[in-house]
Amino acid sequence: MSRVGRNIHVSVDRLRQLAHRDARPRKIKADAGTCPKCDSHFSADEMQRNLRVCTACGHHFPVSARERLEQLGAPGGYEEMWPDLRAADPLQFTDLKPYTERIAEAEKATGMSEAIVCADLEVRHAPAVAAVMDFAFMGGSMGAVVGEKFARACDRAAQRGVPLIVVAASGGARMQEGTLALMQMAKTVIALDSLAAAQVPVIVVLAHPTTGGVWASFASLGDVTYAEPGALIAFSGPRVIEETTREVLPADFGRAERQLENGQVDAVVDRRLLAERIGRVLHILRRPDDDGPTSTQAPALQWAQGGAQWMGDAVQALPRKVMDRIRPGSPDGEDAG
Ligand SMILES: [Zn+2]
Repeated sequence: MSRVGRNIHVSVDRLRQLAHRDARPRKIKADAGTCPKCDSHFSADEMQRNLRVCTACGHHFPVSARERLEQLGAPGGYEEMWPDLRAADPLQFTDLKPYTERIAEAEKATGMSEAIVCADLEVRHAPAVAAVMDFAFMGGSMGAVVGEKFARACDRAAQRGVPLIVVAASGGARMQEGTLALMQMAKTVIALDSLAAAQVPVIVVLAHPTTGGVWASFASLGDVTYAEPGALIAFSGPRVIEETTREVLPADFGRAERQLENGQVDAVVDRRLLAERIGRVLHILRRPDDDGPTSTQAPALQWAQGGAQWMGDAVQALPRKVMDRIRPGSPDGEDAG
């Protein structure tokens, strides 16, 4: 109780200063958890829990390739392949700094060896092979290693007979590898072509941004193509086009929503719904031999993939009312089960 009578020496100026400071809105210094659209701030935990989507305005933050795999599968529920493939520097390229130095910096900053991570994983219990790009590694640019890993992922999907999931996030071909980088466009397209021959479906997710040589090759060739809200999907970014053509482009130029209107993507899907959506598609696309003739998944596709026998069995199992309608000349449907 002796504290009650104690003098506290605080100057009036200091008190005024404090009052003034409290009246001002407290501005948190912008960092990786600050939404660039609405200034909402999230802790690292919140960001992870919200799959790096702003809960206030829906802005989609960038996601690293490994975190993306965890979001699609389960935490730790994927097996990374070919993590040791590293870029060579055949042109001994130097711009403002040597290419080798840029790679070393990117490796240090991201903990990755390249701009793509490939893995076997299960999305909602459906097996798949995934090739996920990471924009943080040299702008997600495609050099020889990205092309090689992508092609290997295609081979693996064909070999396993499971769909390939591609998540694109890239500024395009890697200029430090010159023509060798451009050649990866042809290489990845040929790899996808062999998947088509093997009747293995490809699901592509276009994250922000998907541009240049990646959009002009494998990213635009999915059987099912999803885009994340607000993602820029274009060959050239709006700034480059405006500078070249000296024309002002619409504000939504190349954005996912506009590309949906243009028919370039099948759906714009919020990241928080993405795993569910992909999982559903994977289950629909399952092959007849995955779970035998009792499967009720995707009759049309089962048929297309050579499941004619299975289709016959499935038709037999249809309810009597449906059988009545599809069997010509048997109004009573006597045989129908
Ligand atoms: Zn926001």
